[in-house]
Amino acid sequence: MTRKDILRLLRDPDAEELRKRAEKALLAAKGSHVHVRGLIEFSNICRRNCLYCGLRAQNSALRRYRLSQEEILAAAAGAIAQGADSIVLQSGEGSCDPAWLAEVVAELKKHEGIAITLSVGEGQARDYALWRNAGASRYLIKHETASPALYARLHPGHKLGERIRALLALRDLGYEIGSGFMIGLPGQKLEDLAGDIALCRALRVDMCGAGPFIPQADTPLAGEACGSVALTLRALSVLRLALPWANLPATTALASLDPEKGQTAGLMAGANVLMPSFTPPRAAVQYRIYDHKNRVGMANAVRAIEKAGRSHGLRPR
Ligand code: SAH
Repeated sequence: MTRKDILRLLRDPDAEELRKRAEKALLAAKGSHVHVRGLIEFSNICRRNCLYCGLRAQNSALRRYRLSQEEILAAAAGAIAQGADSIVLQSGEGSCDPAWLAEVVAELKKHEGIAITLSVGEGQARDYALWRNAGASRYLIKHETASPALYARLHPGHKLGERIRALLALRDLGYEIGSGFMIGLPGQKLEDLAGDIALCRALRVDMCGAGPFIPQADTPLAGEACGSVALTLRALSVLRLALPWANLPATTALASLDPEKGQTAGLMAGANVLMPSFTPPRAAVQYRIYDHKNRVGMANAVRAIEKAGRSHGLRPR
């Protein structure tokens, strides 16, 4: 499948036909099971200044926090008790001492059969190795956009190549790698989205999270328009056809633009992962990556999976 084929699929006028093809490919490659990851947004501290993100260092409107190790472990235990199969620890970049995070990972590893995923941005190779040795086995670091020019504009002082090198370094250390991108970024074209999907396919990523861009009031992109839900669903279906092996989440951003049906629609378009948040509510309100962020909890996840007619192993309280 070339970038041209991908672009043709993205332009396919028959959205329902595309969705059905993706659903068939999903059931054939991955089955009906939906994986549920417990997301813990443990710190909103960040050293970067990504134009779209509310956590950017220059945003002084945000009250910064970092959960304690005990708070993280308690949140994780809650997620695991309800049937989460993996814990995702997410934060801004450079939010904590790497050795401190390694301790958290090692503690979490005591829960048998639970995969630990990190999503803490770019770091030193020695820190990736430290966390890997502590027991983390997956790493999410989205390439955000595969257009080198758009990437450079949105990430002052940084280049797309660095992001791709980080993904490759993580894979070399034995991590399963997850990339992803935003849909509807200011100045993004459909050709760019075809490039995003082609890049994920070429990298043979294990996971890919594609969600709509949503403006945040305290960022330079505050006045821009949201990404389209319809285009996000279409991109999910094309991703499923282009990367049949991959785990694809229905993102929280999708659920934020369409709280009623977003997650269900994402699953029906080809996604097989949900990531409900277990961040303590007092911290979660300060994790303002974008505005109107929906709080997707375990109960929402169960409802979305059942509405989509799929299966899960959850035990919600
Ligand atoms: N610091 C980590 C985690 C980033 S937050 C890292 O660099 O990987 C997780 C994701 O939120 C980002 O990868 C980005 O794709 C998404 N995000 C950030 N701002 C957003 C916005 N305004 N709209 C939609 N998604 C956004």
